[in-house]
Amino acid sequence: YTAVCEDCSVSMTYHSANNRMMCHYCGKSVPALKKCPECGNEYLKYSGVGTQKLEEELKLLFKDARILRLDADTTLSRDSFSTAFRDFSEHKYDIMIGTQMVAKGLDFPGVDLVGVIGTDRAFYSDDYRGFERTFSLLTQVIGRAGRSGGNSEAVIQTNNVGDNVIAFASRQDYKAFYAEEILTRKVMIYPPYCDICMVVTSSTDNIVSESAANEIKNNIINGITDKFKDIKLFILGPIPASVIKVNGKYRYRMLIKCKNSREFRNLLRESMSIKRKGDLSVYVDMNPETVL
Ligand SMILES: [Zn+2]
Ligand SMILES: [Zn+2]
Repeated sequence: YTAVCEDCSVSMTYHSANNRMMCHYCGKSVPALKKCPECGNEYLKYSGVGTQKLEEELKLLFKDARILRLDADTTLSRDSFSTAFRDFSEHKYDIMIGTQMVAKGLDFPGVDLVGVIGTDRAFYSDDYRGFERTFSLLTQVIGRAGRSGGNSEAVIQTNNVGDNVIAFASRQDYKAFYAEEILTRKVMIYPPYCDICMVVTSSTDNIVSESAANEIKNNIINGITDKFKDIKLFILGPIPASVIKVNGKYRYRMLIKCKNSREFRNLLRESMSIKRKGDLSVYVDMNPETVL
């Protein structure tokens, strides 16, 4: 049995701080269950989030270490976030555990060991920027160890030891990474060789959302075979978003490889003027930061 959010198609995460299960998509939380609702078993095991487990392990291994854990659970406000960072640089802690947000451009003196745990997950994203994101995250984290001088060291934990992206990152080899990545982008036709336009439909009615997405796609195809026949584009999808349901709304997305020209935007505007049933909404994101 896995606890799933009522409004979103994701499983909830257990938080030991308040003994509740939380949905990280809509923020809803419910008290942690005392027994399994399916079989009544009272010996439930909460796996918790990675950072919590890591903290428990480290407490066992380093009994006297002062540990600072920073994740969505512990950092409630921007304020407590910066206080925590200041405390860490003033050596009020010995070990810091954090999610990706800790890696973003922060400098601490006197850090002589950096560990990156479970480097594989980033690769599962079907986003064309997945490799770039992984490379940039790893180089930032490893750079952190490098900057403190002395005998600092970085350890990357991964199941993909032979992976080029991880190898390039561990050597801080931007040139080699770029050479390989740009070739892939060129062959597969991804930015910077084109623009990516993401069209998302969203509705509490799954069928309305899906058929709206298909209708828009058909309109685009009709457009480029007739009025807009000079436009070259390629449509991927529509498919359900990687998390299809959020806040009770079903989402479908398609990606259009295109050139972001005035002509294209006109085609898109005309293709999107479909009948709005119920609470259907449609939106467009040009070169999105993340693909849904
Ligand atoms: Zn939710
Ligand atoms: Zn059960």
